[in-house]
Amino acid sequence: MLTVILSFSAVSCIGRNTHTIGDCNNDKTVDGKDSQLLCRYLSGEYILISKGNADLNSDGVCNSGDTKAMRDYLAGVSMPGTRFSDIFLNNLNIGNYKIVIPENATSFEKWTAQILHDSIEELCGIDLETVKDSKQETPCEILIGATNRSNVPENILKDGEYVIFARTTKIILSGKDYYVAGGVGHILNILEKSNALWNTSINVDISYSAKSYSVEWKQPDKVFLFIGDGMGFNHTILATDQAPVVQHAESSIHAPDEKGTDVFWPSTIENKGEAITLNIQQSTTDSAAGATALSTGYKTLNGALGMIPADLDGDGVENEFRSVLNVREAAALNGLATAVVSTDKLTGATPNAFLVHHTSRKDRNIILEQQTALTSTRLDYNYLWCSYDSDEVFDEFKKAIDACDDNKNGFFIMTEEAMIDKYGEKMDFDNVIRTVKRLNTMTAYAATYAMCHRDTAIIVTADHETGGLTKGEDGIWRWTSNGEHTGTNVPVFAMGAGTDIFYDCSVQNTVIAKFIFSAVE
Ligand SMILES: [Zn+2]
Repeated sequence: MLTVILSFSAVSCIGRNTHTIGDCNNDKTVDGKDSQLLCRYLSGEYILISKGNADLNSDGVCNSGDTKAMRDYLAGVSMPGTRFSDIFLNNLNIGNYKIVIPENATSFEKWTAQILHDSIEELCGIDLETVKDSKQETPCEILIGATNRSNVPENILKDGEYVIFARTTKIILSGKDYYVAGGVGHILNILEKSNALWNTSINVDISYSAKSYSVEWKQPDKVFLFIGDGMGFNHTILATDQAPVVQHAESSIHAPDEKGTDVFWPSTIENKGEAITLNIQQSTTDSAAGATALSTGYKTLNGALGMIPADLDGDGVENEFRSVLNVREAAALNGLATAVVSTDKLTGATPNAFLVHHTSRKDRNIILEQQTALTSTRLDYNYLWCSYDSDEVFDEFKKAIDACDDNKNGFFIMTEEAMIDKYGEKMDFDNVIRTVKRLNTMTAYAATYAMCHRDTAIIVTADHETGGLTKGEDGIWRWTSNGEHTGTNVPVFAMGAGTDIFYDCSVQNTVIAKFIFSAVE
């Protein structure tokens, strides 16, 4: 049950906000009068309004973005900016709580604590302290994962479910791997579903009986697309082979120096299938045509970025090209935030299938000119970062989320691990394992994020396979295509509402773009 209490009632308060966002005339309510006042003010009339309150989207300026936010709020679509003066968990102000993680917390437990902290700060302005369980126990704690005082009964921890319950004044969140974040999503869901007005207090009731819940996905408006360039099924299996034996061409048989990872996280998410990558000519694709199919939903010729063959002069011969909209542009046009992150160069084919439209991936100057020109249009991106083989990609990926996730309409973020392909071409086992692991970490973070934000969809796939990587009957891994791309189908791992279309299916790669269009449009 959910109760909404007016903040003017006598409740203990930590970090209470003293102003009401949207209340332009300072009459303590947000209604049509504020909307009218804001429009008149923005049309240049000399009237006094509360500028702090009129900055609905909290971007530091008072402009048309705020009238849109006001319309959305009055229509019940969204509540931008700070929403609650106080949040209570089982009638205790959330400001009284500490977030507690295990001394040797897993990445999932740390990320869950961070996302919970950031969400609460965004929703009510309270900066919760996060401590390790080696610290002195305090009365009000949100215990994340396997802390030394969580004591979650073994029999309630189910695969594919999360646990949230209360014990006296403690809130306990648990679950296997990224499911530990499910409890954060549980709390955020209740807050989002409430019709509480700004500047009101809200109580979240958490059951005292320990039980597990399955995740209920919502129609996605936050989409992560991960492209492992050149990543076939076998690249993901090699990266988790705990005792691989490999042979490059005529070289000796040996164990790679790079240690594999225990789990390739995308393979643990529910909907698994495969994609057909062949280009418009039914032949092996390059990265440009492969990424264009994923970005636009159209197969094209190798080398083309965001363009497909056309008969523009009507002579019956398709010897010209026309531009086709890509999913990132569609997202931007619909007011979503967008980002492109890649371990390729800024002129790389994959990132540019989401940025430019040109017949040849080789014309680097034209590609850079088109990228620059984007920034003054409605198709602009919120975050763009490309750096060749850089380990900073995980930090940059998180920065891209930060740059996008306060957009109330949602976001589209394309992240590419480009080097799986480049090292596959060199038939370099160690670096293929290393770069599949680098992609793996980002997908694990995205899965944790999605547990907290149920309106998220994740797709992990590839543009094509590189190297014909195969494990022989003798148990030895070998490259069978001399470093060339192959036409082998690639994996599709997907999470979120509607992604069951990929379950156990072999789809054209263009279906992935169509799925993303349906989410962002
Ligand atoms: Zn490629």
